[in-house]
Amino acid sequence: MSKPKVNEELCIGCGTCESLCPQVFQIREGKSKVIAEECVNCNCQEAVDSCPVKAISLEK
Ligand code: SF4
Repeated sequence: MSKPKVNEELCIGCGTCESLCPQVFQIREGKSKVIAEECVNCNCQEAVDSCPVKAISLEK
């Protein structure tokens, strides 16, 4: 399992990650927050690949 992280300095709050993995990412005050400890059964890699500013990383 991998742990998602968001670099809030880069995040522009576009909402793409939240729409892909709402159980992991939630937009609060214009930034994406990680609300789950782990990426389980969802598309976090797709969120990483889809983030327009490459703000998401997955730690193994
Ligand atoms: S996809 Fe990237 S820029 Fe958009 S809200 Fe998520 S972390 Fe922020």
